Amino acid sequence: MRRSGWLVLALTGVAGCGSGGSTHDLVIAGGRVIDPESGLDGVRSVGIRDGKVVTIAEGELTGAKIIDATGLVVAPGFIDLHAHGQDDENYRVMALDGVTTALELEVGTEDVPGFYASREGKALINFGASVGHIRTRMAVMGDQGPFLPTGPGGRQAASDADIAAIRGRIEAGLAAGGLGVGFGLQYTPAATKWEVLEMFRAAAKFGAPALVHTRSWGTTDPGSSVESYLEVIAAAAVTGAPLHFHHLNSTSLESTPRTLQLVEEARARGLRVTAEAYPYSAGMTDISSPLLDQFENAPDSTYGKMQLVSTGERLTRASFRANRKPGVAVILHLNTPEMEALAMKSPFTAIASDGGLRSGLGHPRSAGTHGRLFGHYVREGGQIGLADAIRKSSLLPAQVLEGFAPAFAKKGRINVGADADLVLFDPATVTDRSTYQQPNLPSEGFRYVLIGGVPVVEGGQVVSGVWPGQGVRGTGQPKAAPTSAP
Ligand SMILES: [Zn+2]
Repeated sequence: MRRSGWLVLALTGVAGCGSGGSTHDLVIAGGRVIDPESGLDGVRSVGIRDGKVVTIAEGELTGAKIIDATGLVVAPGFIDLHAHGQDDENYRVMALDGVTTALELEVGTEDVPGFYASREGKALINFGASVGHIRTRMAVMGDQGPFLPTGPGGRQAASDADIAAIRGRIEAGLAAGGLGVGFGLQYTPAATKWEVLEMFRAAAKFGAPALVHTRSWGTTDPGSSVESYLEVIAAAAVTGAPLHFHHLNSTSLESTPRTLQLVEEARARGLRVTAEAYPYSAGMTDISSPLLDQFENAPDSTYGKMQLVSTGERLTRASFRANRKPGVAVILHLNTPEMEALAMKSPFTAIASDGGLRSGLGHPRSAGTHGRLFGHYVREGGQIGLADAIRKSSLLPAQVLEGFAPAFAKKGRINVGADADLVLFDPATVTDRSTYQQPNLPSEGFRYVLIGGVPVVEGGQVVSGVWPGQGVRGTGQPKAAPTSAP
């Protein structure tokens, strides 16, 4: 079939003119195609060949395989900018939630080539990672934490020589194709403003984004969300590195109106600043990390906002202290539904899960982020329009990265030449099912998910034995030096 397809392609001389005579590897027939870039929203058939969309037509198309998409929305696959779960357990529930590309951009990795090599040819969906300041700092400072810092990586000041060593490793990670520089400043409180600037300079040298979990979330200075957002907006302005805020919801809390305003104002000034949010009012982290040092001497009433992932029990001062060891995950009930919704609805927030399951345990955002977006926010609440929710899940995250990683210019949209990373879902039934008690229950309603034209979800079930996921990388090239202002 492929050979005859090529023959037709050669004879017509163009791919994607809408001709019904072409033969395709796969045709998605008669779905409601929504492309957030062109604004297309209509019933079309989509023809796929060699992993790419080659035809979008109003009439019928021929192909070796046909998927009847009648009644389903056909959207670009979702790109999750914040996915800590980078293994098969997580890729499966993410595929069932409509995700086609899972990116670990916040914590990132200290070993970019190793991250990609260990997943190549074995991944259900596409994957990628930044080079992470947290993990690189841990390596230089000698922190043994399994994922986040538990010792000097977070709490010990770096000398000038240490900072130079961290920056050198960060630049090596960018040269190896890392998708930007990840930061978790609340996990590395000992990192000075100058250290952060040095890492932004490394990002700027490659034209790579700085992807930041900010330093603090209080409402008063020092230590406010506003102060911590200004720290990195200033770093972006001084260095020229594009800036992305991870989970604006969970680092802003009741200051969400103010941090959204700061992002909007910085964008209006011409800075390349973007943000993301997830649709839950609780967060999750490792109980031993420096982020929770502030709870050591908190009022008694604060401890009940923390919930052990392993047992579901709410904490007290005594049980917080008893459980404070590496590898113990805790849910943090710190935000309100009102602030969550504000962050979700902003036109410039991408939707990103911050998910990561381990042996079925974790936060419901891992399996349910997009099910909850399209079930709760779009269908039930009417708070976000269907096409806008698709844009926030596909085109917007692609645009965060495409200036530095051109591969993303072929993702997040449905046009001729785009990668055939697609999701087909039923807008009338799509929903999340994961809960704080059962965080790994997969979403429902995402009927088909394609990675480069290969179905990884068919009829709402994961297809076994296919590994079409590809590593997506940055350019690895330093940018030409910018011209200086007069
Ligand atoms: Zn974070």
